Amino acid sequence: SKKVYARTKPHLNIGTMGHVDHGKTTLTAAITKVLGDRGGAEYVPFERIDRAPEEAARGITINISHVEYETATRHYAHVDMPGHADYVKNMITGAAQLDGAILVVSALDGIMPQTREHVLLARRVGVEHVVVALNKADGADPELADLVELELRELLDEHGYPGSPVVRVSGLRALEGDPEWTAAVERLLQAVDDHVPVPVRYTDAPFLLPVENALTVTGRGTVVTGAIERGTVKVGDTVQAVGLGGGFTAVVTGVETFGKTMERGEAGDNAALLLRGVRRDQVRRGQVLAAAGSQTAHHRFTARVYLLAAAEGGRSTAVATGYRPQFYLRTADVPGRMELHGAPSALPGETVEATVELGRPVALESGLGFAIREGGRTVGAGTVTAVLG
Ligand code: GDP
Ligand code: MG
Repeated sequence: SKKVYARTKPHLNIGTMGHVDHGKTTLTAAITKVLGDRGGAEYVPFERIDRAPEEAARGITINISHVEYETATRHYAHVDMPGHADYVKNMITGAAQLDGAILVVSALDGIMPQTREHVLLARRVGVEHVVVALNKADGADPELADLVELELRELLDEHGYPGSPVVRVSGLRALEGDPEWTAAVERLLQAVDDHVPVPVRYTDAPFLLPVENALTVTGRGTVVTGAIERGTVKVGDTVQAVGLGGGFTAVVTGVETFGKTMERGEAGDNAALLLRGVRRDQVRRGQVLAAAGSQTAHHRFTARVYLLAAAEGGRSTAVATGYRPQFYLRTADVPGRMELHGAPSALPGETVEATVELGRPVALESGLGFAIREGGRTVGAGTVTAVLG
């Protein structure tokens, strides 16, 4: 029979971010190895993290890999994303829901464009805490590493992350079992434990889970996965699927996290819900599962949208009323049309007020953040200011 998840420690969601090839996946594997040796994790090798389940959702690849581990004081779900585009999308839409981030920077290469973009993005999406893993320290001249650290502190100060710990590590050497670098990974985890506080969870709110994936488990039914955004859920609860023109009500017959059964899923948990009498094709990424009657789907809303500057990876030309990008709201991505308020056009780097008309309805509310993308890149970050219809 299945193991039971014992909620003995606070649960936090963290993840690696940083420039490609700076060692995010290697470090993720190394953390599970180091903690695995002390019984705080199941070791997850590099290949298994890097081969994250890939989902071609309406032609857009969504890729995110979760591992779990425990330190002496916390239980962590850790996400590692393979590509820059995945970071931008998952962070802006909140799919990653990071309470804190480990910024991985190669001491050999220093700050690179995606290092800067991820720091900027983290700030914009409300990641409050960053811990730096100054990686590849095994191969770096200490004086060069000092220089990189100095520049990093400047970057972090500039973007509202003063006092972020910087820990020199070697994910690769720790993965190989080198005691010196194993200790360094332990110091990094200690810094995460110390620096990232346990966030406030909205467990009293009505249950809400943005659907990340739905799969069929033979003999058991349909399982829906995602991170619980707010509220709690347990076996016997009735949930409603909302959005994308679908919708059904079903009873939850199982709640699991990382393959262990849970008595109760709570806000912040990565959960898998087993639903009775639901076919896999009735549930889709982009819908939400919610406490019955608590959510409705909408097409139209007003929003405040920041258009990313070209230096942040945004457009190089203005947008005008009639602009039709793709909208990413929670796990949904749907086409939509923007009507700008005030001026008829706006430049990258500017913030605009706009009315948005979505091609398909999704669960919406005032305050919800979203991303807009075109041609595979993120060009804006917005907030819903009012729901219209
Ligand atoms: P990611 O793109 O940020 O996930 O980077 P990877 O984890 O895939 O690592 C990129 C490359 O850097 C691989 O060839 C790794 O073996 C190498 N690498 C990762 N960590 C270290 C390290 O601590 N030291 C050294 N010397 N190489 C490393
Ligand atoms: Mg990687």
